[in-house]
Amino acid sequence: MAEIRDDSALDSPAFEVRFIGESKGKGLFAVKPFKAGDVIFEERPLVCCQFAWNAAYGYLACDFCMRPLEGAEENVRRLTGKKDIVLPYPHCCPTNRNSHTQCPSCGVWYCSSTCQEQAWNQYHRTLCLQSHSHHPNHPLEQLNGAWKHMHYPPETTSVMLLARMIATVQQAEDPANALHFFMQFCHRTVNEEQEIAHKLLGEQFKGQMQVLQELMVKALYSDSVQQWLSPDGFQSLMALVGTNGQGVGTSPFSEWVKKVSELELAADEKQQLDSFIDKLYEDLNEGGTASTGTVGHL
Ligand SMILES: [Zn+2]
Ligand SMILES: [Zn+2]
Repeated sequence: MAEIRDDSALDSPAFEVRFIGESKGKGLFAVKPFKAGDVIFEERPLVCCQFAWNAAYGYLACDFCMRPLEGAEENVRRLTGKKDIVLPYPHCCPTNRNSHTQCPSCGVWYCSSTCQEQAWNQYHRTLCLQSHSHHPNHPLEQLNGAWKHMHYPPETTSVMLLARMIATVQQAEDPANALHFFMQFCHRTVNEEQEIAHKLLGEQFKGQMQVLQELMVKALYSDSVQQWLSPDGFQSLMALVGTNGQGVGTSPFSEWVKKVSELELAADEKQQLDSFIDKLYEDLNEGGTASTGTVGHL
């Protein structure tokens, strides 16, 4: 779920939004043929966050835009477990550490001060833990901890997306309008919503939904979002995230591979580089770590 920016649509529309039906809502339909590799549109997520286990495994990403914060070399070393790998052509690494910055109150990392400001103004003022150390009793930490023990990898969403939506409404100039905006994505009946929660959480979903809802009330209750914090409202919110959210993988190593592949090199250098990259991909497969960084978008 995102704002769709399609500047090219003004000249020759590449797709259109059509209403499919009550349960599916709206959908995108292509109105012209596409070639592999064409950019159909770019979108900015309304909220996004890194999946909980992905963050716990140590993959560093900007807390607002999810851009990877680790370099290509660090990424491939971590995923292969081989600390001595050195990537040639370091200028092809997409990560610029000079612009990285932290929230001064809690220490979460951002790729730039622009992301830090945007996060603060959209939801982080509400969600900032106000401490650099881990506080297991903080309601938001309890919520994240409870979620991690209900939803193991492969991860498909995160309860923190719900927290970010709630905080976005609370910090909006017109909270009622912001809440209404998100609600246009809800089209489900109560039964369908229960099925989605069942699929996300498994057999114990009723008890687990109650645990999550109670922790969310403890962490973030305010009048402006009470509609989402009742048991039924919380289930709708979970269904909204379950159906409209999408997981997106990021990998600074793949970006490095793409950039070095575009370099103009002599034939022997090119061949050497190709076999070096093939070997790295073999090492990555042996490590059994296909996942790199994965974020939930809405
Ligand atoms: Zn960022
Ligand atoms: Zn903070």
